[in-house]
Amino acid sequence: MSSNPFYIEISKENLIYNNNYLQKTYNSKLLPVLKANAYGHDINIVSSILYESGVKEFAVARLCEGYKILENENLKDCKILIFETVDQEDYPNLDSRIILSANTFEDLKNMVEKGVPTEQIQIKIDFGFGRNGIFFQEVEELKEYIEKYDLKFSGIYSHLYALEKDEGAEVIEEFKKVILFLGKDRFQMTHIQNSEGIYLHGNSNFFTHIRPGIYIYGIQEPGIHMENIKQVLTLKGKIDSIRQLKNKKYLAYSTKESTKIVGDENIAKIKIGYGDGFLKLNTFTQCVINGKKFIINSITMDNSFIQVDESVKIGDEVILYPDFNDVFFKLNVHIVELICLLSPRLKRVIV
Ligand SMILES: *Cc1c(COP(=O)(O)O)cnc(C)c1O
Repeated sequence: MSSNPFYIEISKENLIYNNNYLQKTYNSKLLPVLKANAYGHDINIVSSILYESGVKEFAVARLCEGYKILENENLKDCKILIFETVDQEDYPNLDSRIILSANTFEDLKNMVEKGVPTEQIQIKIDFGFGRNGIFFQEVEELKEYIEKYDLKFSGIYSHLYALEKDEGAEVIEEFKKVILFLGKDRFQMTHIQNSEGIYLHGNSNFFTHIRPGIYIYGIQEPGIHMENIKQVLTLKGKIDSIRQLKNKKYLAYSTKESTKIVGDENIAKIKIGYGDGFLKLNTFTQCVINGKKFIINSITMDNSFIQVDESVKIGDEVILYPDFNDVFFKLNVHIVELICLLSPRLKRVIV
């Protein structure tokens, strides 16, 4: 790693393992969610690996993310669902592999009128969360419209958000009724469950796909433990230098006292900071060096500082975010919020 001593390791094996595990266990096709740069993992790396292992359908939030995946010319035969509403100016010349979401009834009519093929449209149904989707109350009108023009779609989907188990189960039943009411064979794909939804409700054999984000990457929801999935991302690097702080009042821009440094000894510098998306918020959390835990004392834009002991030498391996679950309990922030921020300055390396 000459250009940047810190990097993000992406385990191809674990990514494929999670993917196969979820498909087998839930006996369902996968529609993996690759938004936000594949949750910080790198959208091109993740889509390529999954495509090679047989996954041909992906979901992202925005159109630019869909086109980012398609930069890879090998992904000839794939479909990419865009969750968010796309501007009308983007309808012409839409790549045939891109699938749009009709997030309102107006959206749907507009797309059909402007000539977007219905094989490139999925209908989103909203069960009252007010973010996205055709309202449940509009379903009768929707049925009339669909039958009038005898429309067949790429799919229909909904979302459970963070519903309690009972509520979620109700929404799933309602959604099934909507699909049957509109005609199940009008939709190639049907799906509603994100990772937590998969964990709570299993697979009903009714829907064609499950739609996990975090589980693809082996990340847990706080307080819920999905067994057998494996973490894909590791943030690691090397000790750059070690100094003594004798008779110095400051470490980087902070006073020594404020960094909780005890004595003057063995302050290791690593070349990663908030400029890489490793936020100051992580100050006083743990890292692992040679299998041993240390506290990160200070974080600047380009460097961070760790008080180490004699066992640590220049060039030793440092692992940041050594325990994803611990991050939530220490910082009350989900690890996903932090890894999405990891900047392109950190190289992604496939292992
Ligand atoms: C982000 C997202 C998902 C994936 O959610 P996870 O909790 O990461 O599994 C699924 N569906 C929609 C609509 C989303 O926006």
